[in-house]
Amino acid sequence: MPSPRITASLTYWSTRTPNAVAVECDGATLTWRELADSVESLAEHLAADGLRAGDRIGYLCQNSVGVIQTILAAVALDAIVVPLNIRLTIPELSWIVEDAGLDALLVDETYTRQALELREGRELRLYWEGPGCPPWARPLVATPAGAPTGRLKRAVGDPDLPAFISYTSGTTGRPKGAILTHGNFLAAAISFATTESMTRHDSCLLVLPLAFTGSLMATWAPTYYTGARFVMHPRFDAARTLTELEHGNITVFPAVPVVFDQLAALPRFDTADLSTLRVAKAGGAPPSAATLARYLRRGMPIGQGYGMTESTGVGASLPQEDFERKAGSTGVTNYGIELAIMDAEGTPLPDDEVGEICLRGAAVMLGYWRNPEATAETLRDGWLRTGDLGRLDHEGYLTIMGREKDMVLSGGLNVYPGEIERIIMLDPRVSEAAVVAVPDERWGEVPAAVVVSDSADLTAAMVLDVCRLELADYKVPKYVYVRPEPLPRTMSGKVAKAEVRAELSEHVS
Ligand code: ATP
Ligand code: MG
Repeated sequence: MPSPRITASLTYWSTRTPNAVAVECDGATLTWRELADSVESLAEHLAADGLRAGDRIGYLCQNSVGVIQTILAAVALDAIVVPLNIRLTIPELSWIVEDAGLDALLVDETYTRQALELREGRELRLYWEGPGCPPWARPLVATPAGAPTGRLKRAVGDPDLPAFISYTSGTTGRPKGAILTHGNFLAAAISFATTESMTRHDSCLLVLPLAFTGSLMATWAPTYYTGARFVMHPRFDAARTLTELEHGNITVFPAVPVVFDQLAALPRFDTADLSTLRVAKAGGAPPSAATLARYLRRGMPIGQGYGMTESTGVGASLPQEDFERKAGSTGVTNYGIELAIMDAEGTPLPDDEVGEICLRGAAVMLGYWRNPEATAETLRDGWLRTGDLGRLDHEGYLTIMGREKDMVLSGGLNVYPGEIERIIMLDPRVSEAAVVAVPDERWGEVPAAVVVSDSADLTAAMVLDVCRLELADYKVPKYVYVRPEPLPRTMSGKVAKAEVRAELSEHVS
């Protein structure tokens, strides 16, 4: 059964609200009409240049209007878009370029060196975003071609047609390319738009790289789908972000915990006028209690979200009104997806029992790109096995207990790092906490905690006291280290648990 293609919003909104602003970045503003016209001519240009259905076109750029135009032009041609994380190193990028078999790559001034290195020994067409196209690249902006071909009029198509290969963060190994289809995009757009009650009257601000699944699928997709205004900054700058939130008429602001921390650290934060902001949401990792409290004092509860690349970002969200009543939970299952807690055999577990979080629905990926083994392991009996552990309470609220791979098996009992980290993070002096397994002669493994705090009066003994009060004996960390240095993080800002474990294993052996 045909379903809306990604370009359907362009067709619809450029007719319905042609003069409303669709997208904005760094002084460049396009209305829906202008966006549709430019995408149409860019698609012609790319087609004339040899981009065919099924070809892979990547982008390695700061956020810009050109990235959005390229994504839309590529999917209009049935090509597949591969977002590249700007924080990756050359060998990491090179591996992805090879794995995805990229035919073309959009780059800008900031990533010229990387682009040229990636092209070495490869057939890779480079497109240039921005003024001053160098001789080795092709300009992005097309001269309007002849008569419109009506490509954008194709509003419906096969929902299983691949549109993106989105690479996972590689927290637990090599990144895997999740094939996300036109149907996945639509399902994610509807899910997030419903979760945040978004309409065409909203204005959404993105300061994170467009390459993140959270940016592209959880932020851009619902904004574009609802016909709202999408404002981007080329890169994150705390002062500029706060100014935009004050004066830019922004209503929806999704980000990650570290962005909220940096905004709150600005001297102006307490007096800034944030009255237009309707939704502030932190995804990808849990924000600290201190940050949440700081925003709450300003009358701005921060919502939270859980999701992953393989589900086009869809999973669960904590509504802002539940912020206090359900502290520690990541919220209710997003619209249009089923979430179940299962044991290893795939049997659903009762309320409050910890098991693997499994997802099912139209937002779940088609599979991993050229990796049938990983696909078979991850998509089983129609369910996405996330590898994350969690439990649902009787009201259907999810609490995340950490990744299965990070679980501590102590004397035959399961200890969940997420549970311990949450208890430790309740202390407002704690900015970060990581609990990992370290080897132990008697118990096999025991939990150990690294606690990050700037406060000189927080001691390991205090942390342990709280743990003893709140947790069963076997869950109380055997080792606690308090320090001011931040935790090691991966490229996408997640705690690098393997590094923490290696660090601690040295300390305790
Ligand atoms: P890889 O799959 O390559 O090891 P990754 O799982 O980190 O990397 P992503 O798809 O970017 O790659 O991240 C999704 C994961 O991030 C989830 O499976 C979960 O472990 C974690 N996560 C997402 N949101 C939250 C949240 N709100 N709280 C805690 N963990 C979260
Ligand atoms: Mg993963």
